[in-house]
Amino acid sequence: MAKSPYRQIEKIEAQEKGGPYGAWWREFCGNYRELLVQARNHSYTALEKKLAATGERITCRKGCTYCCFHYISVPLAHGIVIVDYLYGRKHLLRAFIRNYERWRHKGKAISKTLDETRARAFLSAMSIHEIIAVTRPLSMRYLESNIPCPFLEEEACLIYAVRPLPCSGQFSVSPPERCSPAAAEGAVIHQLVADDEDLLKFLELAGPRLMVYEMTLPTLIYRFLTEGASSI
Ligand code: SF4
Repeated sequence: MAKSPYRQIEKIEAQEKGGPYGAWWREFCGNYRELLVQARNHSYTALEKKLAATGERITCRKGCTYCCFHYISVPLAHGIVIVDYLYGRKHLLRAFIRNYERWRHKGKAISKTLDETRARAFLSAMSIHEIIAVTRPLSMRYLESNIPCPFLEEEACLIYAVRPLPCSGQFSVSPPERCSPAAAEGAVIHQLVADDEDLLKFLELAGPRLMVYEMTLPTLIYRFLTEGASSI
């Protein structure tokens, strides 16, 4: 049985939040969360305009969790904000740790390959399009493996207020069952992309390293919790 990580998590939390780095941490997380709300509102308004023109209707509903079986990666900056959210809600942190232990048996191998592939791609200065082309087959393999996100509990997201942008950026306008990977007919999905002005604000706040470098969501959060954000 794996050793309990809670003592280590407490130690890391005290280190992260203590001293001058702690002051930066609090201010950064507050500002990032404000930008997150703004970016979501702006992209959602853009989607509403688009749907008004096409006459389509969003069919996503509470309790539908197909999106939560997709592969999700997040920038390091977003990982810091999720960890901060969990520090303030220990019951959610514990639920994540419990689910993570299950997730890693199925999800860790594919996501490790994805993280390594992405790291190599960044080092060789590949374009975003090239990186997507390289990682897409692995993301598809992940989806086919039917692995629920460790933040999914009782058909709801444990970190809904700070969920990653890709999680809040996909809307189906076809019957919900078509989002199942087993469906014969594919879903019609609108992807929301944050507008350039919002992306620039994120970059200004966090800097390129924290915003551009991404890792698998569960792996990054577990690592930040047990080793600290400065471990990467
Ligand atoms: S973070 Fe939340 S919304 Fe995103 S995949 Fe996980 S459970 Fe679903």
